Amino acid sequence: MKQNQMLNGIDDHTCKVTETICLPNSRLPRVVIVGGGFAGLALVEGLKNKDVQVVLIDRNNFHQFQPLFYQVATSGLEPDSIVFPFRKQIKGYKNVSFRLAEVKEIQASTNTVITDKGKLTYDYLVLATGTKTNFFGMEEVERNSLGMKDIRDSLNIRHMMLQNLEQAAITCDDEERDALTNFVIVGGGPAGVEMAGALAEFCKYILPKDYPEYPSSIMNIYLVEAMDELLMAMSDKASSKTLTYLENLNVKVLLKESVSNYDGTVVQTKSGKTILAKNLIWTAGVKGDFPKGIDERHVVKGNRLKTDTYLKVDGQENIYAIGDIAALISEETPKGHPQVARAAIQQGKYLACTLMGIINDKPIGLFSYKDKGSLATVGKRKAVADLGKLKFAGYFAWLLWSVVHLLSISGFRNKLLVGFNWAVSYFSYEKSNRVIIRNFKLNTTGKTQTKDNSENHLEKDVNTKKSSIDV
Ligand SMILES: Cc1cc2nc3c(=O)[nH]c(=O)nc-3n(C[C@H](O)[C@H](O)[C@H](O)COP(=O)(O)OP(=O)(O)OC[C@H]3O[C@@H](n4cnc5c(N)ncnc54)[C@H](O)[C@@H]3O)c2cc1C
Repeated sequence: MKQNQMLNGIDDHTCKVTETICLPNSRLPRVVIVGGGFAGLALVEGLKNKDVQVVLIDRNNFHQFQPLFYQVATSGLEPDSIVFPFRKQIKGYKNVSFRLAEVKEIQASTNTVITDKGKLTYDYLVLATGTKTNFFGMEEVERNSLGMKDIRDSLNIRHMMLQNLEQAAITCDDEERDALTNFVIVGGGPAGVEMAGALAEFCKYILPKDYPEYPSSIMNIYLVEAMDELLMAMSDKASSKTLTYLENLNVKVLLKESVSNYDGTVVQTKSGKTILAKNLIWTAGVKGDFPKGIDERHVVKGNRLKTDTYLKVDGQENIYAIGDIAALISEETPKGHPQVARAAIQQGKYLACTLMGIINDKPIGLFSYKDKGSLATVGKRKAVADLGKLKFAGYFAWLLWSVVHLLSISGFRNKLLVGFNWAVSYFSYEKSNRVIIRNFKLNTTGKTQTKDNSENHLEKDVNTKKSSIDV
């Protein structure tokens, strides 16, 4: 067969997968888990060394700790301290195999998943594929901005920021310098708020040291939120305190405002405002991300898979969904559970017990979510906490946030690395290395890329574009 027709067992010409992914022989029921995020890994942990064959498939060979992406993006942490290799995680789990592959399609009639590396069959399939950034159909915004849903996104943001700050020192054009040093973050949820706080601290503590040629007022940070408050999912107290913290850090918070377009230089809002900025970070929404093969009737708002109270996907015999991708719609949860790590972990743990119950013909319970509260940080020593009726903000909330996050990171080495970095930065306001190790540029298809040569996206002529700051 011609080489271009046959790639990794997939016959491009006929779209039929011809190769089977090799797995250890086993007579145990096979549970295939797609996605090793918080939900998938909690399920693996629950099924380890049990009488089932577990196959974890992920398009990456590592688990990512998404809550700290913003710290990698702002040079606070190195990427390897918040990702953890699956093979290290499952070391010693005799019944668990990992396969690096991207699942492309589910063929439920034959209990088969088709991946980019080959196919495999399952007795039980669990989709734990999470979400991707939702740009709500705004293609130009997607092409010209960066989301924050993957460790590579965080590194791209870091490189974009550092390159633009360097370019700002080079250019003699005042308008271009403004564009290069203005940052717009879209979305006032935890990810946007934490990113804005970290950038503001970068501006306050790092900029004067690293770029003595700039006044610290050169870097403007805008946080754009469509609703009338930040952190909508938290209490009014947390929302208003967060607003105060950010404003004290000189972040320009634009509430009841949404971005309507962005051409890479000028941000346009629905109310007609424009902001000149070469840096736009999009944290305003996510949508479910799952392979094809699921009937559209079982897909609900946010592109999530509707499940019953056992987390089984509606209309399917042996396919389950857990984590961000799942929407258990009930009277109590008309919009499904919140798309947060603790819900994903609880669902993974629950499904491990449920699957073992089904396999061993034992009684199974319904899934019920225990909300333990919410935390968000807005920079060093500042955070907000809603723990049931207990709502507080400030240093103790930040201390709690730090401990909870440190304990949640996978791996002892990673905990040590993060803890050490935080300790250094606590006393010195220093960030880890701010090095540009690859040239980053946005490409025209909306995907990001890096280049080895010195070609730079900052060479565009901003004078040809509308360039007033009007907010
Ligand atoms: C920037 C940011 C900050 C956040 N902060 C917080 C926070 O502070 N607190 C909190 O509780 N939650 C936070 N969240 C949300 C939290 O990270 C998610 O709720 C959680 O990651 C969901 O877990 P999951 O297992 O469902 O999906 P994910 O963790 O997204 O994992 C999905 C996995 O599936 C894999 N995958 C996807 N599709 C395929 C495919 N077709 N084939 C193979 N593999 C595939 C991916 O590679 C990934 O490993 C944050 C999220 C973001 C993006």
